[in-house]
Amino acid sequence: MKIAFASSEVFPYAKTGGLGDVAGSLPIELSRLGHDVKVFMPKYNTFGEAEFGLHYNWDIGEIPVRIDGQVRMVHVHTATMPDSNVQIYFVDCPHYFHRFRVYTNDHDEDERFILFSKGIIEILQRLQWAPDIIHCNDWQTGLLPILLKENYSWDRMFDKTSTVLTMHNIAYQGRFAKSAFHKAEIKEEHSGANGIGEYEGDVNFLKTGILTSDVINTVSETYEKELMTAEYGNGMEPFLAARFNDFYGILNGVDYSVWNPETDKLIPYNYSISDLSGKEKNKKFLLERLELPYNENLPLIGIISRLVDQKGFDIVAYGINQLLDIEAQWVILGSGEEKYESLFYEAGKRFPEKVSTYLGYNNELSHLIEAGADIFLMPSKFEPCGLNQIYSLKYGTVPVVRKTGGLADTVQDWNEYLARGSETGNGFSFNDHSAFAMVHSVKRSLIDFHNKPTWLKIQRNGMNKDYSWRKSAEKYTALYEKAVVKRTGR
Ligand code: ADP
Repeated sequence: MKIAFASSEVFPYAKTGGLGDVAGSLPIELSRLGHDVKVFMPKYNTFGEAEFGLHYNWDIGEIPVRIDGQVRMVHVHTATMPDSNVQIYFVDCPHYFHRFRVYTNDHDEDERFILFSKGIIEILQRLQWAPDIIHCNDWQTGLLPILLKENYSWDRMFDKTSTVLTMHNIAYQGRFAKSAFHKAEIKEEHSGANGIGEYEGDVNFLKTGILTSDVINTVSETYEKELMTAEYGNGMEPFLAARFNDFYGILNGVDYSVWNPETDKLIPYNYSISDLSGKEKNKKFLLERLELPYNENLPLIGIISRLVDQKGFDIVAYGINQLLDIEAQWVILGSGEEKYESLFYEAGKRFPEKVSTYLGYNNELSHLIEAGADIFLMPSKFEPCGLNQIYSLKYGTVPVVRKTGGLADTVQDWNEYLARGSETGNGFSFNDHSAFAMVHSVKRSLIDFHNKPTWLKIQRNGMNKDYSWRKSAEKYTALYEKAVVKRTGR
């Protein structure tokens, strides 16, 4: 199949979260399955052209794209994605994308991604390349399906092009004043009362995508089910219910060429499921680097996260004294809301022998923590898929998680499975979004941490899991086939 993959972030060029990881891996895996894939992302000025081998594409040249009655010139740079032959097309429009950040709160944030969506369609026209699938991701490309079906319906080239929308996090919906549709030249009726894009008097790019894509999905089966409820749906649940028959859950894969303790180049000691001795050495190395004392019998608990409510830091804040009472050491890597940054900063100051806090983004340290920590804490309030718990499993770093979304789909509670007579658990999990349930689960994990044979079994159960992209890419292929049937009837 011919697949155009549209994403506002693609690792390694730009990444603010899980979407970047997905967009950096899934297209490559799809191409390995034999699909013809082209990737599209905005050309931000946050990464170096030379570093990533970008070339100005003279064949495509300049394309006029109209936004809010103004013509903006779009240019294209292309590159080959790492370890693949997948071409990535960077939609270049300095007026919108040279802002030193991927996302902004600027007044024209809507225009930036309207331009991106229109730009992709126009580039496909210039290339005379009619994809079978345009795979949109999140609200930033939520308008692309309606633009394709209405504004560009005159172009018969797209008659057989189906659209798929993947929702990576329903909390981000792209809500703007109704004028956004006017700027995009989308029909007035769609922003009017009960219009396809209307939501509480505004327009909502994600809602528009939900209602106009041929097929929609999200990034885990549990999150898909949760999204149908008012608790998790963030207002989108009635529209998702309307699309019930075309709504799927596909768990993200992870890139084991980057996240594998056997080959990871960012950790000093590689190790494997058959010999975990390197893991202990990494722990020593990490603790030394963090200036924390090493003690084999003291578990090191890691957190790598955006420090925001979504990730459950409200219950961490509530139970911080109980957590710090536990006989353990902590390493926290993250950035986000100030109240949580200062929570961990203060914890580090109060307990310099016990807690090390690194506020900021640090890829190398994130690998070191996965390799050196014993336990990984991820108490998310909601979690579409989550990657760090999957990395943790592979690194023998036992996850303690709240049982939600992708966390529920990847972490099996050791005690719960044991009670059913099975020694297949790979972590610890709790249902209740409460500090009490979290602290209790951390304590449960410590009991088994001190029982070495059991701990090794739990570690190995996790390390044995295979969440590679191959399986997920096969599921996406089946999803694309459904989208084609939806659009063409066969
Ligand atoms: P989300 O997309 O909601 O932030 P995910 O678990 O899906 O959560 O993906 C988070 C990704 O970002 C992971 O690859 C994780 O390692 C990385 N990450 C998050 N915070 C940091 C940080 N402070 N430093 C380095 N990497 C981070």
